[in-house]
Amino acid sequence: MSDGDVKPPLDRRALGRALSRAADATVEEILTRWTPAHPQTSRRIAITGAPGTGKSTLISSLARARLRMNERLGVIAIDPTSPFTRGAILGDRIRMDALADDPRLYIRSLASRHAHDGLADNVADILAVMDEFAFDEVLLETVGVGQADYTVRDLVDTIVLVLIPESGDQIQAMKAGLMEAADIYVVNKSDLPGARKVVAELRAVLRSVGRDGWAPQVVETSARDDRSIEALADGIDRHLAWRSTLADDTTRRRTRTRYQLQSLINRRLDEILTAGPGERFDRPLPELFADVVARLDIPTPRAERQQRRG
Ligand code: GDP
Repeated sequence: MSDGDVKPPLDRRALGRALSRAADATVEEILTRWTPAHPQTSRRIAITGAPGTGKSTLISSLARARLRMNERLGVIAIDPTSPFTRGAILGDRIRMDALADDPRLYIRSLASRHAHDGLADNVADILAVMDEFAFDEVLLETVGVGQADYTVRDLVDTIVLVLIPESGDQIQAMKAGLMEAADIYVVNKSDLPGARKVVAELRAVLRSVGRDGWAPQVVETSARDDRSIEALADGIDRHLAWRSTLADDTTRRRTRTRYQLQSLINRRLDEILTAGPGERFDRPLPELFADVVARLDIPTPRAERQQRRG
């Protein structure tokens, strides 16, 4: 939808249902319901970082800043699911008390379930739902550090990685080439000691990792400093503007399809590998491999699925 169009009022209940439906869909349901994807219409910004780096606090301030430029803004927080309790660890933590009643804003927390990459299983479909409901922009909060986060690259326009003054280990990992570049690095909690040092280290490391003509930016932010949040919002705008010069729906569609295909196959594989007794792994590896590959296209029996979901 172009900026000039008048949007129909947001049907929050219908959106809530559509998101739950997308988030809960099984592999089979996704394949049977599939329709050709529409081109992406929302701007998508991933905010990622380790727990405790202040992402939720930052996103609530950032949402306020982004609402000035967006008629309809969505915040989707992907909550890591504990492998032990199978429940979301953090719950809905986004601190948006002051914003919660803003009709232009929609906030939803979704459990990551068994996705390997820290994203929700069906995040591509979840983002497509946000497009269907005419969001101008979506902030996607994901938890994690390191390589795995960057599968999100296939689904969003801008990746913001949140670090804090104590994030020296992550910077070492970047130096060692273990971490792929984000588009914008935030050194959050810059009111704490050590922020300057981390910023300097980051800049030194980043000098060598500019990709595709974009030099990653470093922004210092603090929940206590509104101007720092504005600076981050400006940095995001600059990156989005740069990205839009590269806009190519065909490449995006192909990349997104590849991502979805891989995540569906991973889920099927997980279903196959977790069903049944441990003794089945006593067989020779080549035989097991052939067997699993053969079973990939057989729909999972309903009972097996229900057992897994329960
Ligand atoms: P998340 O787990 O990354 O979402 O982090 P939270 O937003 O829950 O914040 C973790 C802790 O850091 C909370 O106790 C916040 O009050 C605190 N915090 C958030 N932003 C700042 C900041 O700018 N400066 C300082 N000193 N603390 C902050």
